[in-house]
Amino acid sequence: MAKSYQAPRGTQDILPPVSDRWHHLESTFRKVCERYGYQEVRTPVFEESGLFARGIGDATDIVSKEMYVFEDRGGRSMALRPEGTAGIVRAFVEHKLAGEKSAWKVFYFMSIFRYERPQAGRYRQAHQVGVECFGPTGPDADAEVIALNMAWYRELGIRGHELRLNSLGCPVCRPSHRQALSEALSEVRGDLCPTCQGRMETNPLRVFDCKSAECQALVASAPSTVDYLCAECQSHFARLRDLLEAMELPYELAPRLVRGLDYYTRTAWEVKYSGLGAQDALCGGGRYDGLVEELGGPATPGIGFAAGIERALYALEQGGIEIPGRSARGTLVIGLDEESRRRALLLAESIRGHGLRAETDYFDRGLKAQMKQADRLGARWAVILGEDELKTGRAVVRDLESGDQSEVPIDDVPGWLDRA
Ligand code: AMP
Repeated sequence: MAKSYQAPRGTQDILPPVSDRWHHLESTFRKVCERYGYQEVRTPVFEESGLFARGIGDATDIVSKEMYVFEDRGGRSMALRPEGTAGIVRAFVEHKLAGEKSAWKVFYFMSIFRYERPQAGRYRQAHQVGVECFGPTGPDADAEVIALNMAWYRELGIRGHELRLNSLGCPVCRPSHRQALSEALSEVRGDLCPTCQGRMETNPLRVFDCKSAECQALVASAPSTVDYLCAECQSHFARLRDLLEAMELPYELAPRLVRGLDYYTRTAWEVKYSGLGAQDALCGGGRYDGLVEELGGPATPGIGFAAGIERALYALEQGGIEIPGRSARGTLVIGLDEESRRRALLLAESIRGHGLRAETDYFDRGLKAQMKQADRLGARWAVILGEDELKTGRAVVRDLESGDQSEVPIDDVPGWLDRA
Protein backbone atom coordinates (compact mmCIF):
# COMPACT_ATOMS: atom_id res chain seq x y z
CA MET A 1 0.00 0.00 0.00
CA ALA A 2 1.22 3.49 -0.80
CA LYS A 3 2.00 5.77 2.13
CA SER A 4 -1.03 7.74 3.33
CA TYR A 5 -0.84 11.23 4.75
CA GLN A 6 -2.43 13.09 7.63
CA ALA A 7 -3.24 16.76 7.93
CA PRO A 8 -0.35 18.52 9.73
CA ARG A 9 -0.59 18.80 13.53
CA GLY A 10 -2.67 21.72 14.66
CA THR A 11 -4.63 21.93 11.40
CA GLN A 12 -8.03 20.57 10.55
CA ASP A 13 -10.08 19.68 7.52
CA ILE A 14 -13.41 21.44 7.46
CA LEU A 15 -15.71 18.99 5.77
CA PRO A 16 -19.42 19.04 4.97
CA PRO A 17 -21.74 19.32 6.82
CA VAL A 18 -19.53 21.20 9.32
CA SER A 19 -18.53 23.58 6.52
CA ASP A 20 -22.18 24.75 6.50
CA ARG A 21 -21.64 25.99 10.05
CA TRP A 22 -18.53 27.91 8.98
CA HIS A 23 -20.46 29.41 6.14
CA HIS A 24 -23.19 30.53 8.52
CA LEU A 25 -20.66 32.27 10.81
CA GLU A 26 -18.96 33.96 7.90
CA SER A 27 -22.11 35.07 6.10
CA THR A 28 -23.51 36.47 9.36
CA PHE A 29 -20.28 38.40 9.85
CA ARG A 30 -20.41 39.75 6.30
CA LYS A 31 -24.02 40.87 6.81
CA VAL A 32 -23.19 42.66 10.06
CA CYS A 33 -20.10 44.36 8.55
CA GLU A 34 -22.03 45.58 5.54
CA ARG A 35 -24.58 47.16 7.86
CA TYR A 36 -21.77 49.24 9.35
CA GLY A 37 -20.45 50.24 5.91
CA TYR A 38 -17.42 47.92 5.83
CA GLN A 39 -16.09 46.27 2.64
CA GLU A 40 -14.10 43.09 2.28
CA VAL A 41 -10.32 43.05 1.93
CA ARG A 42 -8.06 40.10 1.03
CA THR A 43 -4.32 40.20 1.42
CA PRO A 44 -1.59 37.59 0.78
CA VAL A 45 -1.16 34.60 3.05
CA PHE A 46 2.57 35.31 3.25
CA GLU A 47 4.47 38.56 3.54
CA GLU A 48 8.07 39.61 4.13
CA SER A 49 8.83 38.45 7.65
CA GLY A 50 10.18 41.92 8.53
CA LEU A 51 6.65 43.30 8.23
CA PHE A 52 5.49 41.24 11.20
CA ALA A 53 8.67 41.73 13.22
CA ARG A 54 8.28 45.48 12.80
CA GLY A 55 4.50 45.67 13.01
CA ILE A 56 3.71 43.23 15.80
CA GLY A 57 6.94 43.61 17.75
CA ASP A 58 10.11 41.50 17.86
CA ALA A 59 9.67 40.69 21.52
CA THR A 60 6.17 39.27 21.26
CA ASP A 61 5.72 35.52 21.50
CA ILE A 62 3.96 35.56 18.16
CA VAL A 63 7.03 36.87 16.35
CA SER A 64 9.83 35.46 18.46
CA LYS A 65 8.50 31.92 18.94
CA GLU A 66 5.48 31.16 16.82
CA MET A 67 5.95 32.56 13.35
CA TYR A 68 6.28 30.23 10.38
CA VAL A 69 9.31 31.80 8.69
CA PHE A 70 10.88 30.43 5.53
CA GLU A 71 13.35 31.48 2.93
CA ASP A 72 11.88 31.53 -0.55
CA ARG A 73 13.82 30.39 -3.57
CA GLY A 74 15.00 33.95 -4.13
CA GLY A 75 16.63 33.99 -0.68
CA ARG A 76 14.02 36.35 0.84
CA SER A 77 12.79 35.80 4.37
CA MET A 78 9.03 35.29 4.24
CA ALA A 79 6.45 34.43 6.90
CA LEU A 80 2.98 32.95 6.87
CA ARG A 81 0.83 35.68 8.40
CA PRO A 82 0.39 35.16 12.15
CA GLU A 83 -2.38 37.79 12.26
CA GLY A 84 -4.24 40.06 9.88
CA THR A 85 -3.60 43.67 10.81
CA ALA A 86 0.03 44.08 9.71
CA GLY A 87 -0.70 42.88 6.15
CA ILE A 88 -3.74 45.13 5.88
CA VAL A 89 -1.74 48.13 7.10
CA ARG A 90 0.94 47.23 4.53
CA ALA A 91 -1.72 47.25 1.80
CA PHE A 92 -3.17 50.55 3.07
CA VAL A 93 0.26 52.17 2.88
CA GLU A 94 1.28 50.53 -0.42
CA HIS A 95 -1.91 51.63 -2.19
CA LYS A 96 -1.78 55.13 -0.65
CA LEU A 97 -5.29 54.89 0.75
CA ALA A 98 -4.90 57.51 3.45
CA GLY A 99 -7.14 60.49 2.82
CA GLU A 100 -7.96 63.61 4.75
CA LYS A 101 -11.05 63.25 6.87
CA SER A 102 -12.03 59.90 5.47
CA ALA A 103 -12.24 56.46 6.96
CA TRP A 104 -11.15 53.23 5.25
CA LYS A 105 -13.31 50.50 6.72
CA VAL A 106 -12.59 46.89 5.81
CA PHE A 107 -13.44 43.41 7.04
CA TYR A 108 -11.80 40.06 6.40
CA PHE A 109 -11.95 36.30 6.79
CA MET A 110 -8.54 34.69 6.96
CA SER A 111 -6.33 31.82 8.04
CA ILE A 112 -3.55 32.73 10.44
CA PHE A 113 -0.52 30.57 11.26
CA ARG A 114 1.18 30.23 14.61
CA TYR A 115 3.53 27.47 15.66
CA GLU A 116 1.88 26.89 19.03
CA ARG A 117 1.44 23.76 21.07
CA PRO A 118 -1.75 22.31 19.63
CA GLN A 119 -4.45 21.75 22.25
CA ALA A 120 -8.21 22.06 22.50
CA GLY A 121 -9.17 25.37 20.93
CA ARG A 122 -5.64 26.20 19.80
CA TYR A 123 -4.55 25.51 16.24
CA ARG A 124 -1.47 26.12 14.15
CA GLN A 125 -3.66 27.16 11.28
CA ALA A 126 -6.51 29.09 12.88
CA HIS A 127 -9.19 31.21 11.27
CA GLN A 128 -10.29 34.70 12.09
CA VAL A 129 -12.82 37.25 11.03
CA GLY A 130 -12.03 40.85 11.75
CA VAL A 131 -12.32 44.49 10.83
CA GLU A 132 -9.96 47.44 10.57
CA CYS A 133 -11.00 51.09 10.51
CA PHE A 134 -8.33 53.59 9.48
CA GLY A 135 -8.66 57.35 9.88
CA PRO A 136 -10.89 58.28 12.83
CA THR A 137 -9.10 59.36 16.00
CA GLY A 138 -12.07 59.82 18.29
CA PRO A 139 -13.66 57.35 20.70
CA ASP A 140 -16.87 57.27 18.65
CA ALA A 141 -15.10 54.96 16.19
CA ASP A 142 -13.96 52.72 19.07
CA ALA A 143 -17.52 52.45 20.32
CA GLU A 144 -18.82 51.63 16.85
CA VAL A 145 -16.20 48.93 16.20
CA ILE A 146 -16.96 47.34 19.58
CA ALA A 147 -20.69 47.53 18.79
CA LEU A 148 -20.06 45.75 15.47
CA ASN A 149 -18.04 43.10 17.27
CA MET A 150 -20.83 42.49 19.77
CA ALA A 151 -23.52 42.62 17.07
CA TRP A 152 -21.93 39.56 15.42
CA TYR A 153 -22.15 37.51 18.61
CA ARG A 154 -25.68 38.74 19.23
CA GLU A 155 -26.76 37.85 15.70
CA LEU A 156 -25.24 34.38 16.08
CA GLY A 157 -27.17 33.90 19.29
CA ILE A 158 -24.08 33.47 21.49
CA ARG A 159 -24.80 34.27 25.14
CA GLY A 160 -22.80 34.38 28.32
CA HIS A 161 -19.76 36.13 26.89
CA GLU A 162 -18.15 39.11 28.52
CA LEU A 163 -16.59 42.24 27.07
CA ARG A 164 -13.45 43.28 28.96
CA LEU A 165 -12.11 46.76 28.38
CA ASN A 166 -8.93 48.65 29.14
CA SER A 167 -6.98 51.68 28.03
CA LEU A 168 -3.26 51.21 27.43
CA GLY A 169 -2.43 54.88 27.11
CA CYS A 170 -0.37 56.53 24.38
CA PRO A 171 3.27 57.48 23.78
CA VAL A 172 2.73 60.52 26.04
CA CYS A 173 1.60 58.64 29.14
CA ARG A 174 3.17 55.24 28.60
CA PRO A 175 6.72 56.15 29.67
CA SER A 176 5.61 57.17 33.16
CA HIS A 177 3.58 53.98 33.53
CA ARG A 178 6.46 51.92 32.21
CA GLN A 179 8.79 53.45 34.72
CA ALA A 180 6.42 52.87 37.63
CA LEU A 181 5.82 49.31 36.48
CA SER A 182 9.53 48.59 36.06
CA GLU A 183 10.20 49.91 39.55
CA ALA A 184 7.44 47.77 41.05
CA LEU A 185 8.56 44.68 39.16
CA SER A 186 12.22 45.11 40.03
CA GLU A 187 11.27 44.59 43.68
CA VAL A 188 9.96 41.10 42.86
CA ARG A 189 12.27 40.40 39.96
CA GLY A 190 13.79 37.23 41.42
CA ASP A 191 10.35 35.69 41.84
CA LEU A 192 9.24 36.29 38.26
CA CYS A 193 9.53 33.48 35.72
CA PRO A 194 12.63 33.64 33.47
CA THR A 195 10.51 34.78 30.50
CA CYS A 196 9.10 37.68 32.50
CA GLN A 197 12.55 38.63 33.73
CA GLY A 198 13.42 39.02 30.05
CA ARG A 199 10.17 40.90 29.39
CA MET A 200 11.15 43.44 32.03
CA GLU A 201 13.91 44.61 29.70
CA THR A 202 11.98 44.46 26.43
CA ASN A 203 8.40 45.34 27.33
CA PRO A 204 7.40 45.14 31.00
CA LEU A 205 3.72 45.52 30.11
CA ARG A 206 3.81 42.00 28.72
CA VAL A 207 4.37 40.62 32.22
CA PHE A 208 0.62 41.21 32.74
CA ASP A 209 -0.01 38.67 30.02
CA CYS A 210 2.08 35.87 31.56
CA LYS A 211 0.22 32.62 32.00
CA SER A 212 2.16 31.61 35.13
CA ALA A 213 0.07 31.82 38.31
CA GLU A 214 3.08 33.10 40.31
CA CYS A 215 3.68 35.98 37.92
CA GLN A 216 -0.05 36.75 37.85
CA ALA A 217 -0.09 36.97 41.63
CA LEU A 218 3.01 39.18 41.65
CA VAL A 219 1.58 41.67 39.15
CA ALA A 220 -1.88 41.72 40.73
CA SER A 221 -1.03 44.89 42.62
CA ALA A 222 1.40 46.40 40.09
CA PRO A 223 0.54 49.83 38.67
CA SER A 224 -1.98 49.61 35.87
CA THR A 225 -2.09 51.76 32.73
CA VAL A 226 -5.45 53.39 33.55
CA ASP A 227 -3.90 55.04 36.61
CA TYR A 228 -1.30 56.78 34.44
CA LEU A 229 -3.40 58.02 31.51
CA CYS A 230 -2.69 61.54 30.26
CA ALA A 231 -5.61 63.99 30.08
CA GLU A 232 -6.35 63.16 26.44
CA CYS A 233 -6.33 59.42 26.98
CA GLN A 234 -8.52 59.90 30.03
CA SER A 235 -11.16 61.83 28.15
CA HIS A 236 -11.01 59.37 25.22
CA PHE A 237 -11.63 56.50 27.58
CA ALA A 238 -14.38 58.32 29.51
CA ARG A 239 -16.27 59.14 26.31
CA LEU A 240 -15.91 55.56 25.06
CA ARG A 241 -17.32 54.20 28.31
CA ASP A 242 -20.16 56.69 28.19
CA LEU A 243 -21.01 55.60 24.62
CA LEU A 244 -20.90 51.90 25.46
CA GLU A 245 -23.23 52.50 28.37
CA ALA A 246 -25.60 54.54 26.17
CA MET A 247 -25.58 51.71 23.60
CA GLU A 248 -26.35 49.28 26.41
CA LEU A 249 -23.23 47.25 25.76
CA PRO A 250 -22.19 45.95 29.18
CA TYR A 251 -18.46 45.65 29.84
CA GLU A 252 -16.10 44.98 32.64
CA LEU A 253 -13.06 47.15 33.30
CA ALA A 254 -9.94 45.02 32.98
CA PRO A 255 -6.97 47.11 34.09
CA ARG A 256 -4.51 44.23 33.56
CA LEU A 257 -5.67 43.47 30.05
CA VAL A 258 -2.81 43.81 27.58
CA ARG A 259 -2.78 42.23 24.18
CA GLY A 260 -0.34 39.78 22.64
CA LEU A 261 0.68 42.34 20.03
CA ASP A 262 2.73 45.43 20.80
CA TYR A 263 1.02 47.91 18.54
CA TYR A 264 -2.02 48.81 20.62
CA THR A 265 -2.58 52.34 21.97
CA ARG A 266 -5.43 53.56 24.16
CA THR A 267 -8.42 51.24 23.76
CA ALA A 268 -7.92 47.48 24.10
CA TRP A 269 -10.61 44.88 24.63
CA GLU A 270 -11.28 41.22 24.52
CA VAL A 271 -14.35 39.06 24.65
CA LYS A 272 -14.22 36.06 26.96
CA TYR A 273 -16.48 33.06 27.00
CA SER A 274 -16.30 31.00 30.15
CA GLY A 275 -17.39 27.75 28.46
CA LEU A 276 -14.13 27.64 26.53
CA GLY A 277 -11.84 26.49 29.33
CA ALA A 278 -8.23 27.68 29.15
CA GLN A 279 -8.65 29.09 25.63
CA ASP A 280 -11.42 31.42 26.70
CA ALA A 281 -10.74 34.39 24.41
CA LEU A 282 -13.31 34.69 21.66
CA CYS A 283 -11.84 37.83 20.28
CA GLY A 284 -9.37 40.67 20.82
CA GLY A 285 -9.19 44.20 19.53
CA GLY A 286 -7.80 47.64 20.05
CA ARG A 287 -6.61 50.93 18.72
CA TYR A 288 -3.25 51.17 16.95
CA ASP A 289 -2.63 54.84 16.30
CA GLY A 290 1.10 54.52 15.61
CA LEU A 291 1.13 51.44 13.39
CA VAL A 292 0.56 52.96 9.95
CA GLU A 293 3.44 55.38 10.52
CA GLU A 294 5.61 52.60 11.96
CA LEU A 295 5.09 50.71 8.71
CA GLY A 296 6.13 53.62 6.51
CA GLY A 297 2.79 55.37 5.93
CA PRO A 298 1.48 58.82 6.81
CA ALA A 299 0.42 59.15 10.47
CA THR A 300 -3.05 57.57 10.46
CA PRO A 301 -4.92 56.23 13.46
CA GLY A 302 -6.57 52.85 13.27
CA ILE A 303 -8.71 50.46 15.26
CA GLY A 304 -9.84 46.90 14.74
CA PHE A 305 -10.41 43.44 16.14
CA ALA A 306 -9.88 39.82 15.22
CA ALA A 307 -12.20 37.05 16.36
CA GLY A 308 -11.52 33.33 16.24
CA ILE A 309 -13.93 31.38 14.05
CA GLU A 310 -13.16 28.02 15.72
CA ARG A 311 -13.89 29.56 19.12
CA ALA A 312 -17.15 31.15 17.98
CA LEU A 313 -18.22 27.77 16.61
CA TYR A 314 -17.36 26.14 19.87
CA ALA A 315 -19.37 28.74 21.78
CA LEU A 316 -22.33 28.02 19.49
CA GLU A 317 -22.03 24.31 20.22
CA GLN A 318 -21.70 24.91 23.95
CA GLY A 319 -24.80 27.10 23.88
CA GLY A 320 -26.69 24.39 21.97
CA ILE A 321 -27.48 26.93 19.26
CA GLU A 322 -28.90 25.38 16.11
CA ILE A 323 -27.56 26.68 12.86
CA PRO A 324 -30.12 27.10 10.09
CA GLY A 325 -29.78 24.17 7.70
CA ARG A 326 -29.35 24.44 3.96
CA SER A 327 -32.46 26.20 2.82
CA ALA A 328 -32.47 25.13 -0.84
CA ARG A 329 -33.94 21.64 -0.71
CA GLY A 330 -33.77 20.50 -4.28
CA THR A 331 -34.88 17.88 -6.74
CA LEU A 332 -33.42 14.51 -7.61
CA VAL A 333 -34.07 13.72 -11.27
CA ILE A 334 -34.25 9.96 -11.61
CA GLY A 335 -33.62 8.16 -14.91
CA LEU A 336 -34.49 4.46 -15.03
CA ASP A 337 -32.62 3.33 -18.15
CA GLU A 338 -29.84 4.64 -20.29
CA GLU A 339 -31.99 6.88 -22.46
CA SER A 340 -33.96 8.24 -19.49
CA ARG A 341 -30.75 8.91 -17.61
CA ARG A 342 -29.56 11.00 -20.52
CA ARG A 343 -32.82 12.90 -20.43
CA ALA A 344 -32.59 13.21 -16.63
CA LEU A 345 -29.18 14.83 -16.93
CA LEU A 346 -30.51 17.39 -19.42
CA LEU A 347 -33.63 18.05 -17.36
CA ALA A 348 -31.52 18.61 -14.22
CA GLU A 349 -29.47 21.14 -16.21
CA SER A 350 -32.58 23.09 -17.22
CA ILE A 351 -33.96 23.02 -13.64
CA ARG A 352 -30.64 24.56 -12.53
CA GLY A 353 -31.09 27.09 -15.32
CA HIS A 354 -34.16 28.28 -13.37
CA GLY A 355 -31.90 28.89 -10.38
CA LEU A 356 -33.12 25.77 -8.55
CA ARG A 357 -31.07 22.99 -7.04
CA ALA A 358 -31.16 19.67 -8.90
CA GLU A 359 -29.06 16.52 -8.83
CA THR A 360 -28.98 13.19 -10.63
CA ASP A 361 -27.88 9.79 -9.40
CA TYR A 362 -24.57 8.61 -10.84
CA PHE A 363 -24.77 4.89 -10.25
CA ASP A 364 -27.14 3.18 -12.71
CA ARG A 365 -29.45 2.14 -9.89
CA GLY A 366 -33.10 1.15 -9.83
CA LEU A 367 -36.01 3.28 -8.66
CA LYS A 368 -35.96 2.12 -5.04
CA ALA A 369 -32.26 2.84 -4.54
CA GLN A 370 -32.62 6.25 -6.18
CA MET A 371 -35.60 7.15 -4.00
CA LYS A 372 -33.48 6.28 -0.97
CA GLN A 373 -30.81 8.56 -2.35
CA ALA A 374 -33.37 11.39 -2.67
CA ASP A 375 -34.09 10.88 1.00
CA ARG A 376 -30.40 11.00 1.91
CA LEU A 377 -29.99 14.23 -0.03
CA GLY A 378 -32.94 15.74 1.81
CA ALA A 379 -34.54 16.45 -1.58
CA ARG A 380 -38.00 18.02 -1.68
CA TRP A 381 -38.96 16.59 -5.08
CA ALA A 382 -38.19 13.50 -7.12
CA VAL A 383 -38.75 13.64 -10.86
CA ILE A 384 -39.00 10.19 -12.40
CA LEU A 385 -38.24 9.40 -16.03
CA GLY A 386 -38.51 5.87 -17.51
CA GLU A 387 -39.39 4.34 -20.83
CA ASP A 388 -43.13 5.14 -20.43
CA GLU A 389 -42.50 8.72 -19.42
CA LEU A 390 -40.29 9.33 -22.43
CA LYS A 391 -42.97 7.82 -24.68
CA THR A 392 -45.79 10.00 -23.31
CA GLY A 393 -43.51 13.02 -22.80
CA ARG A 394 -44.80 13.38 -19.22
CA ALA A 395 -42.61 13.01 -16.11
CA VAL A 396 -43.79 11.84 -12.71
CA VAL A 397 -43.09 14.54 -10.12
CA ARG A 398 -43.31 13.31 -6.55
CA ASP A 399 -43.61 15.65 -3.59
CA LEU A 400 -41.41 13.90 -1.04
CA GLU A 401 -43.02 15.74 1.85
CA SER A 402 -46.66 14.83 1.15
CA GLY A 403 -46.11 11.80 -1.09
CA ASP A 404 -48.44 13.34 -3.75
CA GLN A 405 -47.60 12.65 -7.37
CA SER A 406 -48.31 14.72 -10.47
CA GLU A 407 -47.72 14.11 -14.14
CA VAL A 408 -46.06 17.08 -15.77
CA PRO A 409 -44.93 17.48 -19.41
CA ILE A 410 -41.15 16.98 -19.27
CA ASP A 411 -40.32 20.36 -20.77
CA ASP A 412 -42.60 22.10 -18.27
CA VAL A 413 -41.01 20.50 -15.19
CA PRO A 414 -38.51 23.35 -14.48
CA GLY A 415 -41.25 25.99 -14.65
CA TRP A 416 -43.60 23.79 -12.61
CA LEU A 417 -40.96 23.37 -9.87
CA ASP A 418 -40.25 27.07 -9.95
CA ARG A 419 -43.93 27.84 -9.31
CA ALA A 420 -44.37 25.07 -6.74
P1 AMP B 1 -5.08 37.56 18.55
O1 AMP B 1 -4.75 37.83 17.11
O2 AMP B 1 -4.03 36.77 19.27
O3 AMP B 1 -5.57 38.75 19.29
O4 AMP B 1 -6.31 36.54 18.52
C1 AMP B 1 -7.62 36.96 18.26
C2 AMP B 1 -8.54 35.76 18.43
O5 AMP B 1 -8.21 34.75 17.48
C3 AMP B 1 -8.40 35.06 19.77
O6 AMP B 1 -9.21 35.68 20.73
C4 AMP B 1 -8.87 33.67 19.44
O7 AMP B 1 -10.29 33.62 19.44
C5 AMP B 1 -8.38 33.47 18.03
N1 AMP B 1 -7.09 32.75 17.98
C6 AMP B 1 -5.85 33.27 18.03
N2 AMP B 1 -4.90 32.31 17.94
C7 AMP B 1 -5.57 31.14 17.82
C8 AMP B 1 -5.17 29.76 17.68
N3 AMP B 1 -3.89 29.41 17.64
N4 AMP B 1 -6.15 28.82 17.57
C9 AMP B 1 -7.47 29.18 17.60
N5 AMP B 1 -7.89 30.44 17.73
C10 AMP B 1 -6.96 31.41 17.84
